[in-house]
Amino acid sequence: MATSIPKTMSGILVEKTGGVEVLQYKTDLPIPTPKEGQVLVKNDFIGVNYIDTYFRTGLYPAPKPEILGREAEGTIVSLGPSGDLYGFKPGDRVVWMATGAYAEYTAVPAVKTHSVPSSIEPGIAAASMLQGLTALTLIKEAYLVKKGDWVLVHAAAGGVGLWLCQLLKAVGARVIGTASTSEKIELAKKNGAEFMINYKEEKDFVGKVKGITGGEGVAVVYDSTGKDQFENDLEVVARKGTVVSYGNSSGAVPPFAISRLSAKNIKITRPTLFNYIYEREEFEKYTAELFDLITKDKLNVRIHHTYPLKDIAKAHTDLEGRATTGKLLLKP
Ligand code: NDP
Repeated sequence: MATSIPKTMSGILVEKTGGVEVLQYKTDLPIPTPKEGQVLVKNDFIGVNYIDTYFRTGLYPAPKPEILGREAEGTIVSLGPSGDLYGFKPGDRVVWMATGAYAEYTAVPAVKTHSVPSSIEPGIAAASMLQGLTALTLIKEAYLVKKGDWVLVHAAAGGVGLWLCQLLKAVGARVIGTASTSEKIELAKKNGAEFMINYKEEKDFVGKVKGITGGEGVAVVYDSTGKDQFENDLEVVARKGTVVSYGNSSGAVPPFAISRLSAKNIKITRPTLFNYIYEREEFEKYTAELFDLITKDKLNVRIHHTYPLKDIAKAHTDLEGRATTGKLLLKP
């Protein structure tokens, strides 16, 4: 299928780190040329992730100028000159995870590109990949959750949080979730959380979790908030339990003395998704599993809102302002 590719495109450029004011909407960015091992994708839906805000603020360093964004869904329009392209061809509907997503076109490594089954509605693949694969790998690799385990999920109504609630319920785990509003609490319950705690209001958070679990604490904590909940995590995790610290929405966890873990033989891990899907086989295995969960098991993919690409500042403001539930998408 021959598609004419223009010379320039719209996209969001960040030249220096800072607040949402550094997100510049441009209409004259050059369309990238796919290099060896890459395909050029015309993006239809772009996923917004909390990690994008870390690259904007500089919490995670990356060379600037930079086009932010780490996942999108769209159509392949051209192929790089050589390399392993996994059989992709122009016209293929795909979803990908790499860099430079906040734009009309992105040249992406074929190794991190996956075809989208026709049974998946437009937008759902972009809404599912990064957050869904994170939840899936966290419950299988960071700690293998077993039926009957008590599990604490922070920010349970967020993007990754709602995935975790649904996947954990499917495994037969018992989920205690946290959220900051009554609407979020109701939503997380609808998605599988058995108990919910408003961690902004609860004065005795540790006592509450201990009470629910009969004094034992939880087998695993999934903490995406970072700084604010870390001390609580060490308190509420059971003897021989695991703390999975996988995000920094409230700031990075400060350095701590490893000797503190000996009080209960706690295991602690600080994973990133990219190390769980590093090899093509791993990426394909988990993506296929994710698509099956959506199509066969009818998992709910909640889209908070689809913003026009030029409204990126509003999307970041809403996400950082705790005003969202589920996935934020951008439409170029
Ligand atoms: P969310 O949809 O979960 O949005 C963030 C949520 O965090 C908010 O809605 C809010 O929920 C909660 N929160 C708690 N404290 C704060 C705070 N001080 N400021 C802002 N929000 C706060 O985002 P994502 O699903 O995209 O990402 C969730 C987390 O997971 C992020 O930290 C992200 O970096 C991390 N992540 C890590 C990955 C990895 O590979 N390690 C991969 C993917 C995501 P409430 O109002 O209920 O408190």
